Amino acid sequence: MNHARAIAALLALGTALLAGLPARAEIPCSGAPSGKTLGPARIIEVETQGGGVYGTLQYARSLDLAEKEILFTFDDGPDPVVTPQILDTLDRHCLKATFFFTGLRAERYPELVREAWRRGHTIATHTYSHPNNLRRFAPSYARAQITRGQEAIAAALQGAEDTKEAELAPFFRFPGLNDSARLKAWLAAQDIAVFSCDFGSDDWRRISAWSVYKRTMRNAAYMGRGIVILHDTKTRTASALPMILDELARRGFKAAHMRAKKPPDTLAGLPEKAVTAP
Ligand SMILES: [Zn+2]
Repeated sequence: MNHARAIAALLALGTALLAGLPARAEIPCSGAPSGKTLGPARIIEVETQGGGVYGTLQYARSLDLAEKEILFTFDDGPDPVVTPQILDTLDRHCLKATFFFTGLRAERYPELVREAWRRGHTIATHTYSHPNNLRRFAPSYARAQITRGQEAIAAALQGAEDTKEAELAPFFRFPGLNDSARLKAWLAAQDIAVFSCDFGSDDWRRISAWSVYKRTMRNAAYMGRGIVILHDTKTRTASALPMILDELARRGFKAAHMRAKKPPDTLAGLPEKAVTAP
């Protein structure tokens, strides 16, 4: 099975190369106006075996971020207007982020899920239709919301020839950050990590883009590092993001980016020849 999958992956890579497609995550950085960029991001591989919960807004620990490292996350998309703008802004800073998409929107806009993946971002999940507080529902309904979201987003992600091998990250964020002990245990049993945040941007509130910018900068300065939540469904966020990234870069912040750590046996099935092939 491992051999077959490895050969399929190599064939897919060969097809992509023949077609002249850029490899994932090798899109050139188009440059920030100031000449300073937040990326390329330091990659943090997150071990999800046994779950894990991250983000000091709610939990005891966060990811192991260095001083002045910010990890960007975007919730609730994709959105046909906002997500493309956000993707372009991130590219200008060579910045990779994590998108906690919802299943319903992934079904509506599957190409945007794939486009985020093609540009090197991490694709994670945030339920199917975003009920704001899963605690209020029967456990079976809450679990179905999470699973259906994963299935819809995976289907969107893998729905094109060049993304067939793309993988969802085993990362989940609760809508409204409303977790429950029971659901966290259920996710942990599936080796899915739960992400809260270290600080927010208030971009879900009815405030101006300028206020989103000011509040994000204030929180970043106060915390000094952390996982930040933004929303790729809000035009105020699309407007504020270039200012946020430019100013963070000017102040010496750098970006971090998270991916799921692969199990150690992932490469074990690769045939010797494939590993050493040019
Ligand atoms: Zn949300």
